[in-house]
Amino acid sequence: MNSIYQNDFKNQKVLIRVDFNVPLSNKKVVMDNSRIVAAKKTIDKILKDGGTPILMSHLGRPKGNDPEFSLSHIVKEVERVLGVKIKFTNEVLGEKTTVIVKKSGPGEIVLLENLRFCPEEKNGDLKFAEELSKLGDSYINDAFGTAHRAHASTSIIASFFPKNKFAGELLLKEVESIHKVMNTGKKPVLGILGGAKVSSKITIINNIMDKVDKLIIGGGMAFTFIKAQGGHIGDSICEDDKTSLALSILEKAKEKKVEIYLPNDVVCANEFSNEAETQIFSINNIPSGWQGMDAGPSSLSNFEEAIMSSKTILWNGPVGVFEMENFSKGTIELGEYISKSTKLGAFSLVGGGDSVAAVKQFNFQDKVSYVSTGGGAMLESLEGKTLPGIKALTQ
Ligand code: AMP
Repeated sequence: MNSIYQNDFKNQKVLIRVDFNVPLSNKKVVMDNSRIVAAKKTIDKILKDGGTPILMSHLGRPKGNDPEFSLSHIVKEVERVLGVKIKFTNEVLGEKTTVIVKKSGPGEIVLLENLRFCPEEKNGDLKFAEELSKLGDSYINDAFGTAHRAHASTSIIASFFPKNKFAGELLLKEVESIHKVMNTGKKPVLGILGGAKVSSKITIINNIMDKVDKLIIGGGMAFTFIKAQGGHIGDSICEDDKTSLALSILEKAKEKKVEIYLPNDVVCANEFSNEAETQIFSINNIPSGWQGMDAGPSSLSNFEEAIMSSKTILWNGPVGVFEMENFSKGTIELGEYISKSTKLGAFSLVGGGDSVAAVKQFNFQDKVSYVSTGGGAMLESLEGKTLPGIKALTQ
C-alpha cells in the first residue's frame, strides 16, 4: 500500500475520499468536528505539494437527494478547520462539478455534494466510480470509518488508478495501530473486551485469542461466562444460549495459555436505573432482584494489575453501564489505568463504538496512544477481516 508521503502531488487534481460524516445539530451546526480535523494532515500535504484536493464524502443515510443531508451544512466548519476557502459543487457528478474542478488550481479545495445522494455510491457501481475517477489525476483514501464498505468511492474507484492510489495519513495511522496491537506489539499484550453481549464480540474474541497474552472480559458479557461456570448472577444480563460458547472460549484460553481476567465483584442495582439502590456482591453470588452494573473494587484492582504489567493494550467496550453516572466508575478507572500504563511506555489502542465514546466523554483521548475513528471498520479489523477499502489500495 503506497502512502501519500511516497508521492509529490504538484499540479495534480487529487481525489480524496474523506470521512466527513459528522454529527449535526437540529440547526445543522457541526457538533463534533474531530473527523474533519482528522483529515487535515492529508489535505495539508496535498496543498503543500501544490496540488488541488477534490474532497468527497458521505453524510448520514439520505434516501436520495435530501437537503437535510447536504454537505453544504459543513462547508463553514471545513473552511474553519482547514483555513482555506472551499468550492462546493452542489452536486456529485455533472456539468457544474466538471467545470468547477477544471477551473480549480493549486491551493484551492473542491468539495463534492454528499456521495450518498447517488444510489450508485452504496451499490459500488463501476460506471459511477469511473466517472468520479475522471475528476482526479490520483486517488487517496483517508476514510477509515468507511473502509469496511465496498462502495464506489471507498473501494471500486481505486481500480481506475492502478499506479496513482494512496493511503492518507489517517488511514495509515489506523492500519499501523491495529498492526502494532495484532502483530508486532511488545509483550505482554492485553486485550480488554467489555460491552453488553458475547454474541457481538465472539469473532473478535476468537481472533485476538491468538494475539494476546492476557484478556480482561468485563461489562455485561462477563455474566454469561460466570453463569456458564455455575455462578449465580441474579438478574444480570446474560445470553443463556451462549454459555457453552463461553466455556469453549475459556477452554481455548487455557490451551493458548492466555490469562483470563473476569470480574470477581460487581456493583449491583435493584433496577436498571441510575437512581437504583446499589450494593456490591461477589459476582458468583448475586441475589435475585439484583443485577450487575459495574466492576467492583476488587475486580478493578485485578484489572489494574493486568494493565500496569502490559506493554500493549487493546480496549474495546466499557466495563459497566457507563452512560449512568453511578455505574461509570469502573470504566473511568479503567481509562485511568490505561493512561498511566501508556505514560510508562505501553502502547494503547482504543477502538470500536462505546469505548471510544467513553474515552471522549471522560477525556482520556490525549492520554492513550491512539483512539480509532472507525467503529465498524475497527471492529472488522479486530475480527481479522481485510477491509475492502484497504484491499483496493493494495491490489
Ligand atoms: P457494546 O456496544 O457491545 O460495546 O456494548 C456497550 C454497552 O454495554 C453500553 O451501552 C453499556 O451500557 C453496556 N453494558 C456494559 N456493562 C453492562 C452491564 N453490566 N449490564 C448491562 N449493560 C452493560
